[in-house]
Amino acid sequence: MNDRLYQKALEFATLAHAGQTRFTGEPFVDHAVAVAETLKSWQLDDNCVIAGLLHDTVENGGATREDILAEFGDDVTQIIDRVAKITAIHLKGSNQAEFVENLRKMILVMAADLRVVLVKLADRLHNMQSLSHLFGQAQAENARETLEIYAPLAERLGMGEIKGQLEDLAFPYVYPDEYHRLVSQTQKRYQEGSRLMQKFKKQLLVLLKPKLPKAQIDGRQKRLYSLWRKLQRPEIDGDLAKIYDLVAARVLVDTVEECYLVLGAIHSKWHPVPYLGVSDFIANPKPNGYRSIHTKIFGPEGQIVEVQIRSHQMHQQAEMGIAAHWNYAETKAGKITDRELETGQVRTPTKLTWVKQLASWQKELADSQEYFAALKFDALQHRNLVFSPIGDVYDLPAGATPVDYAFTVHTKLGTQAIGAKVNGKLVPLNHRLVNGDVVEILVDRNRTKPNRDWLSFVVTAAARHAISKSFKQ
Ligand code: MN
Repeated sequence: MNDRLYQKALEFATLAHAGQTRFTGEPFVDHAVAVAETLKSWQLDDNCVIAGLLHDTVENGGATREDILAEFGDDVTQIIDRVAKITAIHLKGSNQAEFVENLRKMILVMAADLRVVLVKLADRLHNMQSLSHLFGQAQAENARETLEIYAPLAERLGMGEIKGQLEDLAFPYVYPDEYHRLVSQTQKRYQEGSRLMQKFKKQLLVLLKPKLPKAQIDGRQKRLYSLWRKLQRPEIDGDLAKIYDLVAARVLVDTVEECYLVLGAIHSKWHPVPYLGVSDFIANPKPNGYRSIHTKIFGPEGQIVEVQIRSHQMHQQAEMGIAAHWNYAETKAGKITDRELETGQVRTPTKLTWVKQLASWQKELADSQEYFAALKFDALQHRNLVFSPIGDVYDLPAGATPVDYAFTVHTKLGTQAIGAKVNGKLVPLNHRLVNGDVVEILVDRNRTKPNRDWLSFVVTAAARHAISKSFKQ
């Protein structure tokens, strides 16, 4: 981070929020600093940290958009604009159909730039940390919105650490009775679990020392909200005795090979529990990219112990998810293929992955019984989110074809279209796209007019208009 730039932004924010206090009674600028510090700790780029520092200066402070543009440039200004846009989309208190529709709008804004999501998550994290200062209704609404939107959002982005923090901060406000009951029910078990874990850690350390002297072993406690959710699963049915990962050991090593070495060593000393056994999320990662090996064994005193084995890099990924990956991808950018040079499109598969993750989440919510029960919300059901090969997302009506997509992206792309690939496979130009499709348009650069026959199948006004216009000329 450039210190002088940071200092300049800090002075700007201090001035913009001069005389303002937050609901906690602290100077308002403290909130901006907390958000910026979080973004710094996630190792995001300078512009993102600056945007965090300035994110409330226009909406809640005395600054203008023009000031920010002049002092900090286009990139920072754009992040702040988009954060404001998302903040204005109110999800709390809306009915179910509006909720999904608003979520969809939010995803479209966030898809443009990942940093917008990250600023928003850092903002929410700090607001939740000071939630005890809010009262009644506002407190409950904020907490509920956190549980319904921001925690699942963090989860979708693979940011397990942030997801866990947000959930545990919100839990006591959304379900106070259940929270207090669970705390008193589990206190003894957590104590007993950590005593057992101390014992197990020592034995494991001795076991691994000869071959893997650098292996790092930690004990981790299951977070309360996540425990509460697990207790509601039908096979568990509220029975704490069926929870085997209340405390778990976590072994961190350097490589994938070492992960399997650790697994072998553990199973040669302690028997895996039949039926519960091993889950290998290294060979088969979870959809959000989570990788780790989990095994449940009969540990000290015959008690069941869960061990999670992963490399340091997997650990970083599991805690920080997309933020870690984004950071990594940025530094590796530089390798550009010939094809990318030729088409002018630099592929960032990472972006495609996370944007698709968000879109599929929105789709799941829209499809789920809970959210959609008896409501028919046409505008929503009849639209699809489709993607360019580099992960840009477009909102198209049902029945839209690759030609509609091409004209939505750019008139020239539509005019020169001669073929299309959907999810990597060649399809006819009148193919109907569905939610989540990745569309690539094949072009003939010498074409100057679109095909008039396309008018028989296009559904968007943009395509219809552009095609008709080119034949009127
Ligand atoms: Mn804020």
